[in-house]
Amino acid sequence: MSKFEPTGILTRRRFIGWSQAMLAAFGLSPLSAPTKASAEGPVGMGRGHAPAASGTADDYYEKLGVEKIINAAGTYTYLTAAVMPPQVQRAVAQAALHPVVLKDLQRASGEYIAKRLRCEAALVTSGASAALTLATAACMASSTGAAPEHIPSEVLPRSEVIVQKSHRYEYDHAMLLCGVRIVEVVTLEDYERAFTPNTVMTNFFNSAEGGRIDRKTWLDVAHKHNVPCHMDAAADMPPIENLWKYTGMGYDLVCFSGGKGIRGPQNAGLLLGKKHLIGLAMLNDSPNSDAVGRGMKVAKEQIVGMVAAVDWLLEQDDAANQVEYMRRANVILQLVKDVPTLRSEIFMPEIANHVPHLILSYDPKVVGITPLQVQERLRKERPQIELNPATGTTGRLGTHSNENTIVIGTWMLQPGEDEIVGRRLRAALTQPQLQL
Ligand SMILES: *Cc1c(COP(=O)(O)O)cnc(C)c1O
Repeated sequence: MSKFEPTGILTRRRFIGWSQAMLAAFGLSPLSAPTKASAEGPVGMGRGHAPAASGTADDYYEKLGVEKIINAAGTYTYLTAAVMPPQVQRAVAQAALHPVVLKDLQRASGEYIAKRLRCEAALVTSGASAALTLATAACMASSTGAAPEHIPSEVLPRSEVIVQKSHRYEYDHAMLLCGVRIVEVVTLEDYERAFTPNTVMTNFFNSAEGGRIDRKTWLDVAHKHNVPCHMDAAADMPPIENLWKYTGMGYDLVCFSGGKGIRGPQNAGLLLGKKHLIGLAMLNDSPNSDAVGRGMKVAKEQIVGMVAAVDWLLEQDDAANQVEYMRRANVILQLVKDVPTLRSEIFMPEIANHVPHLILSYDPKVVGITPLQVQERLRKERPQIELNPATGTTGRLGTHSNENTIVIGTWMLQPGEDEIVGRRLRAALTQPQLQL
């Protein structure tokens, strides 16, 4: 890789020089100016005031009257997940300046990512959910020979996907789009018996809790029956090594969300795995118009952004990032720790969202405000703060949250926001009656 980097940089600089000269000639301001943001540290991404790719553009959030939030929750889809680091933002802006042949970009980006993530092949998809649909289509095509225009099919026998009962989830929908039937199993004997000539794939939901069949056994049994395994690891980075761990184990296909921990564009994702299956996934993807993946188009900007995010990620250090997330949790804790009855805990989910979450428990009767009321108040104040959705609820974080807990995810906070969150929490918990 390093062999090509100097050329790449040179080309980009030349290009920026040229495009700026052109823009100047037309009396326009540059869309993508090199900025100081590139000098920022690994986790530092600057908020609002930090110039990024869109330095001189109109602020459309302002124009549209949409509040910019402080994300004290995590990489949640409904909160637009992550913010792309400046170098990824710049790659996206730069890609927007030129047309290319989409297939060429799909192929080249896949090969580049596969090399960097140590798998046979890769495809940039419009998200982990799209990757799951394309994985299902690829496995159907591989097993039945179905052409893209016959997925889903009204004539072929119904294809089957085997999953553990405790791995049933919302994203089953992504597989069902291909017209498959989902076959549930609980025990290992169920699993062995579930394979039929119509079985095309098995799906393993990596962060599911409570399944009786472990990753390795699941894989071995499927392979014994010559059936490929897909793993949904959408939110399971960090650690960075997970990006090659599961394909390395032998999973035929593994999907990741591009816009969560990887911090690529929110409408991007990765399908990693075996070459022949990735090839079939591509066949079933946009720009093929007669294919289940046609509505899952990934634009050139997002493809390039995904590649840039992988490059950015591989320069990151998990341990250093975790220390920074802990530091932010501590800044917040120091500001609220003397609230009466307050106790704190740091909770790291084991698989998905494997980062420190600050959990504050207290007695709402003594303090005078419930966690759900705190959440509402922080939403109404400006800047708007979004707490982790496990706040004030039972069941989302096992035994770690309930109606008396505030949950804060610190990893998506931008520089300085830890203190704002701490001060605003402190105000809510010590002056609960204050009218806004
Ligand atoms: C977020 C998520 C997805 C969907 O990812 P997108 O990139 O938003 O499509 C799929 N599966 C799991 C387990 C997820 O957490």
